[in-house]
Amino acid sequence: MVRLQVAVETPQHAGLDTTLDYLSEQPLTAGTLVRAPLGKRELLGIVWPGEAGEVAEADLKPLAAVLDTLPPLDPAWQALVAFASGYYQRALGELALSVLPPELHRLDGAQLALRLRKLHKAMAAPPDAAGADAPPAPSAEQAEVLAALAATPAATPVLLHGVTGSGKTEVYLNAAAQALAAGRQALVLVPEINLTPQLEARFAARFAGRRIVSLHSGLTPAQRLRSWLAAHLGLADLVLGTRLAIFTPMPRLGLIVVDEEHDPSYKQQEGARYSARDLAVYRARLQGARVLLGSATPSLESWQRANEGRYRRLALPSRIGGALLPRVRLVDMNQQPKDRGGAAALSPPLVEAIRQRTARGEQSLVFLNRRGYAPVLHCADCGWKSGCPHCSAWRVFHKLDRTLRCHHCGFTERVPRACPECGNLDIAPIGRGTERLEEQIGQLLADADGTPPRIARIDADSTRLKGSLEAQLGAVHAGEVDVLVGTQMVTKGHDFRRITLVAAVNPDSALFSSDFRAPERLFALLMQAAGRAGRSAEHAQAAEMWVQTWHPQHPLYAALRRHDFAAFAEGQLKERESAGLPPFAHLAMLRADAKQADAAQGFLQAAADLAAALPGADQVSVYAPVPLPVARVAGVERMQMLVESASRPALQHFLAAWVPALHGLRRGGAHKVLRWAIDVDPLSI
Ligand code: ADP
Ligand code: ZN
Ligand code: ZN
Repeated sequence: MVRLQVAVETPQHAGLDTTLDYLSEQPLTAGTLVRAPLGKRELLGIVWPGEAGEVAEADLKPLAAVLDTLPPLDPAWQALVAFASGYYQRALGELALSVLPPELHRLDGAQLALRLRKLHKAMAAPPDAAGADAPPAPSAEQAEVLAALAATPAATPVLLHGVTGSGKTEVYLNAAAQALAAGRQALVLVPEINLTPQLEARFAARFAGRRIVSLHSGLTPAQRLRSWLAAHLGLADLVLGTRLAIFTPMPRLGLIVVDEEHDPSYKQQEGARYSARDLAVYRARLQGARVLLGSATPSLESWQRANEGRYRRLALPSRIGGALLPRVRLVDMNQQPKDRGGAAALSPPLVEAIRQRTARGEQSLVFLNRRGYAPVLHCADCGWKSGCPHCSAWRVFHKLDRTLRCHHCGFTERVPRACPECGNLDIAPIGRGTERLEEQIGQLLADADGTPPRIARIDADSTRLKGSLEAQLGAVHAGEVDVLVGTQMVTKGHDFRRITLVAAVNPDSALFSSDFRAPERLFALLMQAAGRAGRSAEHAQAAEMWVQTWHPQHPLYAALRRHDFAAFAEGQLKERESAGLPPFAHLAMLRADAKQADAAQGFLQAAADLAAALPGADQVSVYAPVPLPVARVAGVERMQMLVESASRPALQHFLAAWVPALHGLRRGGAHKVLRWAIDVDPLSI
């Protein structure tokens, strides 16, 4: 019998952080999939490279099966997973097995062999190569970018900074064509599932005759396995997907594109909290592939790397066809008439501008980042507010179904007829969400007979039913809607042809957030939203982006007015540098959940005490534990503690010693925490 190391999925908190040893009848190549007994169960495992441990052979179990109909996962894939496990501080086996398609965990050798036979049969004939779209002649700017790209060594990551509609996708298509022509595979990542069908159609039209698969969480388990197998076996040339696709084994990988590279969806928010964008850069280096990061508003991390010359920055500063970017108009809300203590939803000049658009048969998009009718109900007599009994948050009033709903834990009740505390019948909504905005726009924009404009609302509530988002978008595209109201859901990616006005109703709160990334996210959101206006050349001249603000002098809005991302980035980077924040410092966040805040705090405090004694502790700062902005959710108290270092290697070195010690601390049982987790390079603070 041969001893082998096998990566299996063991629970993180069992503290089994390494691979387990098994016996095999014959030697197996690292990367081979196996089925391994663990306790009473039999689990999928991956033969892992390296020396097996010291356990006596009599104590080792033999493998249950070897899935050798499948070629082994290659060394580059193993290296990517090993790196991610170390960097994001997650058990190797857990990470390696969690990024495989769920269906693989279920199938035995015979079932897998059957799937493979079917796949090979279905893919025996190459797809029809007829009717591929010819690429358009590149614009002057695109030609410059393509020439610069050709002159840039593949080992240098490229940051493509191009405004919305500047033809970035065309550059991706061109880079993909070159990779395919060289006999290699291309991986294209997008932030959202909703964006994959559009992109898939565009790639399919260009690359008829090539096999394209997609990988995202919206596929059935069988479809996901099929796409994954096609990529792993090298049958698919192009893989389009969301963040989870970064772990797709692709033996001939020659290009990785990360579209909208700044998008927070690239960061996994549970389990191994990896950044697919950052792993893309790492993976490209492993496989000698080119990596292309694209955005109209790059992350400040990537922007700074380009400033330092570690990435090559290429720019597409203008829209295709010479269309202008929408003119940005700031409405100073201090100068606007007040209605009953607050400002009206839409200021009079904005109402007038929308009215003119409607009269001309053009469309307007109005967005507000808050769904429901009003964020809180209030009794003026006794001061009662619609708090959630399980969370430190208000329950949101939804007028359409007459409910009070907690957006954190989901707790829902019918709206009380009277104040639950004092019986007062006159309880009133405070503030405004998209439902109320829709209602108010109907009133403000009604014509002389009182007929409101045709309004569609798109938010998480109005699109809950399958197909309803498509139906709403269809109505907008068909011109059956005058005003589209929504949350930031409507600002991403959609190619609206008749929208000539986009308005942000109340974006100011992000200016004063305690999260240092809030301005960066706001700027990206507003630029993205502006990109929804004037997308067809005939309308571009009239396109406007309206921002209602109480702080019109803010430098963020000044940069937005000029569409000047570079100026915004320089300003932010200066502030970050002087405050010692990323990208000039490196962060990790330790989070702990417990029934009692004391317990969570106690665990974090003990973790901080442990930290002080570790080697390298002098190069990291451990801050005091603080509650999350919404501290209690569903009866659980949530605390967090920031760890910061000026040096990434120093932080990594420290975490490698600290995290195992935290597992020990938890196992010691002195701390009644429900769970804890470490988030390396956390996105929200
Ligand atoms: P981005 O990805 O930067 O938003 P796209 O690549 O989607 O931009 O291009 C915007 C629009 O311009 C698309 O409709 C695209 O088909 C078109 N387009 C891009 N490049 C060219 C070109 N060189 N010639 C003609 N049309 C182009
Ligand atoms: Zn009351
Ligand atoms: Zn709640």
